[in-house]
Amino acid sequence: MILIVDDSPENIISLKKVLEKNDFEVDTASSGEEALKKILKKSYVLIILDVQMPGMDGFEVAEAISGYSKAKETAIIFLSAATADVTLITRGYSSGGLDYISKPVDMNILLLKVKTFYRIYEQSRALNEMQITLRQEIEFRKEAERKKDEFISIASHELKTPMTSIKGYIQLLERSLDKNDKETIRTRLHKVQNQIEKLNLLIADLLDISKIESGKLKFNKQYFSFDETLDHIIEIMQQSNPQVKIVKNGCLSREVFGDEMRIEQVIINFITNAIKYGPDGEEIHISSEVRDQEIHFSVRDFGIGMSEEHQHKVFEKFYRIEETSERFQGLGIGLYICQEIIDRHNGKIGVKSTAGKGSEFYFNLPLSPEKEAIKILS
Ligand code: ADP
Repeated sequence: MILIVDDSPENIISLKKVLEKNDFEVDTASSGEEALKKILKKSYVLIILDVQMPGMDGFEVAEAISGYSKAKETAIIFLSAATADVTLITRGYSSGGLDYISKPVDMNILLLKVKTFYRIYEQSRALNEMQITLRQEIEFRKEAERKKDEFISIASHELKTPMTSIKGYIQLLERSLDKNDKETIRTRLHKVQNQIEKLNLLIADLLDISKIESGKLKFNKQYFSFDETLDHIIEIMQQSNPQVKIVKNGCLSREVFGDEMRIEQVIINFITNAIKYGPDGEEIHISSEVRDQEIHFSVRDFGIGMSEEHQHKVFEKFYRIEETSERFQGLGIGLYICQEIIDRHNGKIGVKSTAGKGSEFYFNLPLSPEKEAIKILS
């Protein structure tokens, strides 16, 4: 928008008419004081400023606005008597464009100048926007690089831990073999197997992440008995974690249409976390039921819990709660993968939690839209 400042109404009218005819938006002020008030409130691309005005003259207005942040990009064209001193005109105004036109105004020259200033303004605005976008892009790539480095360092550490244990157990196994101590050999072999299983899970998670990134996580959906799958998981997890008591409530009594292995992966992840972030000796409550045309499944623990601010962030990739990340090992990708799996089943994943009291991780899966997808067991 252009601001015309002139004490003569005739000048204002004629300038306004020409500019508006050429599709410029125009505002007007009939004194320096009025112009300053307007410039404080609005940003103008250009001010056409009469030099000789009673009260505040054009120089004083220019001098005053040179300090306004709103007018930093604003150009000024002074309208002056032919005799005016050019050095005087440029006085006090250092930022933005500056030009002058002698009176009587040649409208063609004025229009040329206005158009030039507008073009410069548009170009500098485009440049500014480009600069902002570039800066954001650079910051994002840094940030991304830092996250990647951090992840690689955590992942290497996580992979190294079971590796070191396996190495240690194998050395001990050699000794037990020398002594032909079968009982100890069996126990140590079992421990090696556990560590290999941990490595397996870590590598599987890492592979899943890269599949999600490249859109290659595939699902093999079929009918399966949710209750049987769940019972099987609970049996195995209870056996390998005798320090907790896994309590199961409810059942679905339905076949579910989905990728059994992937749904199993989500359930195992919930229970593994409940064991990891819950205290030994406490119970873990597992519930499944059909409610409002949906399958509701949840795993409740009585462990460290988390405050509200973390509750939606824990499903983000690589997110680990900082205050507890030193105490518990992990990569911060399990729940991210779970979310992807549940999303791809058109379900909903979430957590309800209170810091210090425990967490309840849940997912809901729709019975519809494909009603035929879930058959009621006879
Ligand atoms: P990981 O446990 O390997 O770090 P997850 O993606 O499974 O990765 O979990 C992300 C983060 O969410 C964990 O680092 C932890 O801070 C938090 N979290 C997950 N489950 C629980 C739970 N049951 N209780 C408290 N915090 C949890």
